[in-house]
Amino acid sequence: MAKQEFQTEVNQLLQLIIHSLYSHPEIFLRELVSNASDALDKLRHLTLVDEAYKGLQFNPRIDLDLDEEKQTLTIADTGIGMNEEELVSHLGTIARSGTKNFLAQLSGDAKKDSNLIGQFGVGFYSAFMVADKIEVVSRKAGEEKAWRWISDGSTGFEIEPAERDVAGTTVLLHLNEEGKQYANGWRLQEIVKKYSNHIAFPIFLTYDKSEWDEKEKKSIKQRVTEQVNAASALWRRPKSELKDEDYKELYKSISGDWEDPLFWFHTRAEGSLEYTTLFFIPSRAPLDLYQAEYKVGVKLYVKRVFILDDAKELLPQYLRFVRGIIDSEDLPLNVSREILQQNRVLTSIRTASVKKILSELKNIAANEPEKYLAFIKEFNRPLKEGLYSDFANRETLLELIRFKSTKVDGLTSLADVKSRMKEGQKGIYYITGGVESLLRTSPLLEIYKKRDLEVLILDEDIDEIVFSGIEKYGDVDLKSVNKASTGDDLKDEGEPDKTEALKPLLDKLKATLGDRVKDVRASARLADSPSCIVSDEEEPSMQMQQMMRAMGQKDFPAPKPTLEINPDHEIVQKLLARPDDAVTEDAAWLLFDQALLMEGVPLQDPATFVQRLNRMMRLSI
Ligand code: ADP
Repeated sequence: MAKQEFQTEVNQLLQLIIHSLYSHPEIFLRELVSNASDALDKLRHLTLVDEAYKGLQFNPRIDLDLDEEKQTLTIADTGIGMNEEELVSHLGTIARSGTKNFLAQLSGDAKKDSNLIGQFGVGFYSAFMVADKIEVVSRKAGEEKAWRWISDGSTGFEIEPAERDVAGTTVLLHLNEEGKQYANGWRLQEIVKKYSNHIAFPIFLTYDKSEWDEKEKKSIKQRVTEQVNAASALWRRPKSELKDEDYKELYKSISGDWEDPLFWFHTRAEGSLEYTTLFFIPSRAPLDLYQAEYKVGVKLYVKRVFILDDAKELLPQYLRFVRGIIDSEDLPLNVSREILQQNRVLTSIRTASVKKILSELKNIAANEPEKYLAFIKEFNRPLKEGLYSDFANRETLLELIRFKSTKVDGLTSLADVKSRMKEGQKGIYYITGGVESLLRTSPLLEIYKKRDLEVLILDEDIDEIVFSGIEKYGDVDLKSVNKASTGDDLKDEGEPDKTEALKPLLDKLKATLGDRVKDVRASARLADSPSCIVSDEEEPSMQMQQMMRAMGQKDFPAPKPTLEINPDHEIVQKLLARPDDAVTEDAAWLLFDQALLMEGVPLQDPATFVQRLNRMMRLSI
């Protein structure tokens, strides 16, 4: 029997688990019980939907067996089991993309990393914290052969044929120094109750129980088997019977998170459709939140029977951070993924669930602002994705999202921005494109500062795409200050149009810049800067164009920006008074290039820019 090596990542993960989880070794039991429960869920589902498995006997249970003398603990289930190939690939390599992603994020700082690992189910390997050798005997449902996988968690693993009466998996732990504390029946019961009380299958513990014998007048040890968990579908019990602790415990057992959830919403619907939903909002964004292959956090049950936990259609994508359970009375038990996609019952549940989640969030925002900020800190951005994809709930989402602004520290809501609007203000203004510091110093904001008008700072990459599609908040217009027309809002009534006076210079600039610009015009929005760049109503901003090109859309047509110049600026005034010559030409390019730079757009030809700058410096020094 040849020894096989662990994939490099497995070794990495093992080292990390052993070194950063030492303060919580007990979670090994939660992880193994949760694997057993998943295996039972999978087999139950197959016996319901798959002809090949329908005849199989299914007697779901999880058995913990403690041998104090030998210092071993086994965790056995009657679930789906693994064949030889699966033992190798599931326990010898890291197949889940989430885990790879997790490893990639590690900093090497044990403290930070152990926080990270808390957000992420650590899985089977956590058992090596408490065991110096693990034997897994498994037989896959529907197959005759069983296999034994043995490893000491450092040098690799071995596989050999084995015997097992029924399908399922037995994990045998040879407890190490650290693990000895768990060779204690009372302690094990306590841990199961803490983490796995609401696992839907019965968990039995077999151990030597000491009991006082009245006749003999001494304590006698007896081997007993007792059920340890409640094994009830907690979400089906009335809210009034449930304590916060029950919810927190259930959350931890279904999410693998070990921090408490921020909040939860438990709803029972009765009427034309009957279902129960229990949704949790984690305190931290899941690590895979921005991965295409994110893990779905909501499990579907039908009449308390687990059906599946990887259906992306249970909730809209932007709510992918929500964890929890949907339990329907109306779906058939053998509902398949394909049917789910256009199932009317599920569509109604989903629509109602989204409404429920959003309206609960709104309540929290109104009544518990601090808690709400903790939520926003993690999940503002996915809500913005909702603006783009969930048209029906757009108004509510606009209420929920929070914004940076030129007027307040921290974050603000649109309702508050609206309440701060000045008389005659034509809309709520925002600026997009680039990082916050750049946006805050953008020349585009000068006129707003001068007039004391609030502008929202939208500095996230998706902001421009999302907000360019949204014209109103209630009855108030939302206006991008990056757009040419928005500047026109701010022209003072009766202010003479300065274009006429500037015309000779504007013509000269246009001739010089040629097809790099769409137009050159006199600006109403500048105070301190001589020039700025704006884009047309229908056109993406300069930053957006840059992003498109960076994303590989090489032949993305480059719409030309409009250059605006400040009629009152000293440079502009002086240029106007000068004869046309090489200096004016350099100045034209410098006005254009500096406006691009302020927008965060890199120059096409930095060398020429520097030459021009140097020529100008020579003249003035
Ligand atoms: P996770 O459970 O988070 O996927 P683990 O490291 O705990 O990660 O387990 C890896 C894989 O091994 C599981 O996804 C599952 O396919 C398989 N596995 C683990 N324990 C069992 C079990 N008791 N029965 C059947 N398969 C199991």
